[in-house]
Amino acid sequence: MNARRWLRPARTALFQVALGGLSAFAQPGHNLQIVASHVLKAAGATLQVDFAAGALDLSQDSVLAHVQRAADAVAAYYGRFPVSRDRILIVPDADGHGIGHGTTWGDMAGYPAMTRIHIGQHATEQDLKEDWMMTHELVHTGFPSLPDDQHWMEEGLATYVEPLARVMTGELTAKQVWHDMVRDMHQGEPQTGDAGIDHTHTWGRTYWGGALFCLVADVAIRRETHNRKGLRDALRAIVEHGGSIDQNWDLPKALAIGDTATGTHVLSEQYAKWKDAPVTVDLPRLWSELGVKPNGDEIEFVKDAPLAQVREAIAH
Ligand SMILES: [Zn+2]
Repeated sequence: MNARRWLRPARTALFQVALGGLSAFAQPGHNLQIVASHVLKAAGATLQVDFAAGALDLSQDSVLAHVQRAADAVAAYYGRFPVSRDRILIVPDADGHGIGHGTTWGDMAGYPAMTRIHIGQHATEQDLKEDWMMTHELVHTGFPSLPDDQHWMEEGLATYVEPLARVMTGELTAKQVWHDMVRDMHQGEPQTGDAGIDHTHTWGRTYWGGALFCLVADVAIRRETHNRKGLRDALRAIVEHGGSIDQNWDLPKALAIGDTATGTHVLSEQYAKWKDAPVTVDLPRLWSELGVKPNGDEIEFVKDAPLAQVREAIAH
């Protein structure tokens, strides 16, 4: 939703760096002094929000309200919060501005999920309003941890789901979401020399290549099911089968559960096509079919476009 969107953290990369240097009793944040601890509820889940020592211009109440909005958006998309307990560690950055980077771990320090977010000392209410990262990080709780080659799916689906979840709670409009997809999604297309999505681990292929995989799959599931099912049904089913961040699965296992939930083979077949060979998507054609028409800085919706109802079902 803003210029910082490209600064997405590489969750698994940080995960490994962190684990590589950690002993059993040295978890992230273990050396930080916690000065306040609060409990939030989201769709029955317990979120413990801890503030590390350090000055913040923002009130703790403002930060807590922001975490609550993000958790509510994730719960709206999944129909529940994906894990029963989550710890969110807020780390103030001295003299910093804006929302810094976030990292999410599974099965950490006794919690099924833990997210650490850095917030600049001088971050403002407007920074919170423009922040996508809190929701992105919490979306990570709703998918199993995957092998390195499939890391693009973890980041891709967080990139794809985050704005759709926030539309459901009224934080964003559908027009804003499609505007940003048209602006950003092309960054996921394979570049010259790229291999399949399991083999080219650039930033573009990881975040936007993964998001593109999700968008194409969402549209394909909705085409095949006459818009009765979508990617959201697949992702909800994966969570229902225990596929949250604290579990280590491989991607085919998750995709098979998603396919069963939608009564299609879209996810498994698309993955078989995309994993080893670069697949280019005709995005201008897709936007046109969906009835998403750029008009200056804005987006216009074309009412009688062939996939207008699919567009409405994806972001509403
Ligand atoms: Zn991420």
